Amino acid sequence: MYTLLYNITTTPGAGMEAPQQSDVVIVGGGVIGLSVAYFLKTLSPGARVTVVEREPGYEHCSTLRASGGCRVQFSCPENIQMSLFSIDFIRRFPELMAVEGREAPIDWVEGGYLFIVPPEHIGLLEANHAEQIRQGCVADLLDPAGLKARFPSMRVDDLGAGVHTPHDGWCDPYQMLHGLRRKVIALGCQVLADEVVAFEVSGAVVRSAELRAGGKVPASHFVNAAGAWAAEVGAMAGMPLPISPLRRFEHYFTCGNPIERLPYVKDLARMAFRSEGAGFSGGVVDGSEPRGFNFEVDHGYFERAVWPAVAHRFPAFEAAKCHRTWAGLYEQCELDGNPIIGNWPGVLENFHVCAGFSGHGMMHAPAAGRAIAERVVYGKDRSIDLARMGYGRVVENRAYGERGIL
Ligand SMILES: Cc1cc2nc3c(=O)[nH]c(=O)nc-3n(C[C@H](O)[C@H](O)[C@H](O)COP(=O)(O)OP(=O)(O)OC[C@H]3O[C@@H](n4cnc5c(N)ncnc54)[C@H](O)[C@@H]3O)c2cc1C
Repeated sequence: MYTLLYNITTTPGAGMEAPQQSDVVIVGGGVIGLSVAYFLKTLSPGARVTVVEREPGYEHCSTLRASGGCRVQFSCPENIQMSLFSIDFIRRFPELMAVEGREAPIDWVEGGYLFIVPPEHIGLLEANHAEQIRQGCVADLLDPAGLKARFPSMRVDDLGAGVHTPHDGWCDPYQMLHGLRRKVIALGCQVLADEVVAFEVSGAVVRSAELRAGGKVPASHFVNAAGAWAAEVGAMAGMPLPISPLRRFEHYFTCGNPIERLPYVKDLARMAFRSEGAGFSGGVVDGSEPRGFNFEVDHGYFERAVWPAVAHRFPAFEAAKCHRTWAGLYEQCELDGNPIIGNWPGVLENFHVCAGFSGHGMMHAPAAGRAIAERVVYGKDRSIDLARMGYGRVVENRAYGERGIL
């Protein structure tokens, strides 16, 4: 059922505003959509690829509000494998995204990640650590004494264990998005400032995408990379998606007492923060937050929820100051918190969803983009078997989630 792109040789136009005939139309020009475009052009340089992004200034997109964290600490092998590929890609991003010899900075910091659990959850962390080792990650399982030796400011008396992954880190999501965007335009992709408002569907095949400004873009394949808006875009094609917008706050804060530089620290209560310049960036995810497109900032949240959690773990933060808070949206997969990557076999063959990353979409964008490109170009996964992340589990209402820290 797949139209292979091997034979397509038409020279594409770059950066033009009138929609052209396309082989692939990608809805959404955040990191996911741009990564799909990049890998399509890498695997099939002659492919005509159109990315449709309705907000050229990216005012509401999740990517520009992300914290930049990239880690291998997952339990599902697919997530670990996606991280290993993506982190290496991000490390090499400046050269890979170079345009006309000019490198694309991404400010990668190999600051490490640290997951910590109380005594009753040691088994969970051990099992996840064993899987990470099986997948070839560098990951150190530490007892409380080992944690204290490595992170002297941390309170460890109520902890059972921690896993430190020293080669994880963080980057600048703004530079990632714009580096990818410049690169795909240089490779000949068309990036349209417009909104997809409908699809023309006949049988199991989507024929064209209709634009708000008028006109239709016919294509052989369509990709739903609309992030927190993916359910709306899926509905236009007749593909229901359990993906909701979940507001999350990110804070920049400083510590009033001397403290060592910290890795990205995460616990089971979803406290997550890391060093950033002279201060720290992070927050506490509230999974019970009502779903919706809400960007309003609750300026009391840091004091109520984040400060107590951070100061409990690192007493130096008893003196802390929050300088800035912003709100962004997770594209939350309500089924299991894992992404949905793929088409709906037999029902919508040429419509591929790549969304629902639930807080991990920036770090997994390179691997996810490559996966969609492989499905389009080869009709199957070549690098990482992502069958369990497909739409089948949505149809069967079968969760495949992460165990432990999210
Ligand atoms: C506070 C916060 C912290 C985060 N921290 C991290 C982190 O540390 N690490 C990590 O990996 N991830 C993190 N994330 C998650 C990450 O930001 C997302 O998973 C990722 O950015 C998703 O990328 P995307 O391209 O799918 O979505 P987006 O960046 O939102 O892009 C989707 C685009 O689709 C466009 N669009 C929607 N509908 C249409 C339409 N009909 N037509 C045309 N265009 C359309 C939108 O305008 C938008 O620009 C964080 C998120 C938040 C909010």
